[in-house]
Order: sequence, then structure tokens, then C-alpha cells
Amino acid sequence: MLNIYQQTLSQSVNFEGVGLHTGLKSKITIKPGKEDQGILFIRTDLSKNNQILANYKNVSSAKLCTTLMNKNKVKVSTVEHLLAALYISEIDNAIIEINSEEVPILDGSSKEFLNGLRNIEVVKQSKKRKYLKIKEKVDLKLHDKEISISPNGFSFQIEFKLNYENEIIGKQKNSINLNQDNLENLYSSRTFCLLEDIDNIKKMGLAKGGTLENALVVDKNKILNSDGLRNSKEFVNHKILDLVGDFMLSGYRILGYVNCYQGGHQLSCQFLSTLFKNSSSKFEILELETNKITSISHEKYSSRVAVNA
Ligand SMILES: [Zn+2]
Repeated sequence: MLNIYQQTLSQSVNFEGVGLHTGLKSKITIKPGKEDQGILFIRTDLSKNNQILANYKNVSSAKLCTTLMNKNKVKVSTVEHLLAALYISEIDNAIIEINSEEVPILDGSSKEFLNGLRNIEVVKQSKKRKYLKIKEKVDLKLHDKEISISPNGFSFQIEFKLNYENEIIGKQKNSINLNQDNLENLYSSRTFCLLEDIDNIKKMGLAKGGTLENALVVDKNKILNSDGLRNSKEFVNHKILDLVGDFMLSGYRILGYVNCYQGGHQLSCQFLSTLFKNSSSKFEILELETNKITSISHEKYSSRVAVNA
């Protein structure tokens, strides 16, 4: 059953932990949000220009994690697992206060966010939710990576294929329907990396907070985490989770079939720009009613929502 109305939380919920890339401790408070507001980050360590809307137009970097930046160059990074948790929790509007630049990585998946959000009642608001329904296929190729979205009736399905030379990761493939499937393996799948890449990632100034407590690390033919994998497709499932988080930046609930090969944050974020810039005839924005569907204009709706809050 698709929700007709927008939803938010009935009360606040807190999380704290270390940032994967900065290594800095941070605390977030997710608070109820206003209708049509979407997900708004507020940097409480700054006194002005501290609001950053979770929108694809505000993506400043998508290298290894998704970073958002407002017009005053204030940033918030590693937003994807939190945004995926909000998508899966059916939350449309929320304010996220954060006292640092990076969202805590917690266990490397969306599981702890989901568990915290499940203790809070989600409440219906009076405005209708906006769905983006694909009418015609849109695709994007970047080097060896590829992503497309095709019509899929009234559900959001993601098929993902990985092709790693590493023998443990190898050619993993999975397909998950966000509206119909049990999502536990999706939201509990952790971020991962190859041991041989860690030096380079650290040289880039990233992964300062990375440990075996918050990431799967693969060394040739073995997994270094003593508890092994949480599910047999944990690698590809995590890539699907990242995609859900990045697609939350569209500002809509998606009705379409995504097919992604070797993608990541960069491809997903660039794809959203392509979709909205060049392919607006290939989707429609809908409001649902019990017996009726109303089509509304994306241009009109998105112009009402401030992008650089
Ligand atoms: Zn991730």
C-alpha cells in the first residue's frame, strides 16, 4: 500500500558516533519537519548560514560518500545511510540537527538508524506525498558504469550488479522491491572496502574513522571482520542501500525500475541531474488518492521548495 499523505516523526530521536571519513565524533537529533519541507540538515555548531537541504542540486562531492553543501559552502557529509533509513521508514519531512560536518557512521549500515526510528511514531501530515513515476526509460553511462530507470507500475525496484576482480565480492547481483520485499538484509548491509585500497583512501584524507566495527574489509580471499558477512549478498545489498539514500535526494518517492551496473554515489547523483534536466517528459509527478491519481507539474512543485535553504 502506498501512502497518500506525507509523513514525519511524532518526536525527536538522537544518534551519536564517529564520522567514517573525518574521524570526528558527532551527534544528530532528528526532529519533526514541516509539510513539503523535505529533509533539512541544520549545523548546530555554526550560528548562521547553517541550513542544508537534502537535494541532488546541493551535492558537492560524491567521492566515496555523498556530501551536501549550501550556497554559503557549509557542508554535511556521509548523508546516504541516514537518508536511506528515512526513505525506508516512510518519513518525508524532518529536520536533522548535527553538531559537526559528518553524519555518524554507526555500524556502517542503516540498521541502527532504523532501530532508533522504529521507536518513534511516524505521523501522517495533511499534504499529499509526491511520487515520481517513470513513463519512459532514461539511462546514463559513465565509462564502465551504467544506470537506467524504466516504468515499473506503482513500485520502486532496484537491480544492481557488481563486477569486482576480488574473488570474495566477485559478480554479485540482487534485485529488491522497496514496496514489497522484506528489507532487513538491505538496511543491515554494511559499507565495505578492499584492504589494498585503504592506504590510498587515507592519503585522500578519508576513512579516518574507519574500523572493523563500522566497515567490512576484504583482503584478497578473506573477510577481516571476525563475525563475517551479515547476509550472503551484503556487498551488493549495501550498494542498493546507498542508491536508495542518494535517490532520496530527488525529493520524491520513486515509482520505477532502476538497473545499475558498477554504480556508486557519483553515478546516482549525476543520474538525478540528468533525469531532471533533460528527461522531464519521461516522468510524471503524481499525488495519489484512494480511487484517483492526480498529475502535477514538477517545475511548479520544485520551485516552491527552496533548494539552497
Ligand atoms: Zn554506503
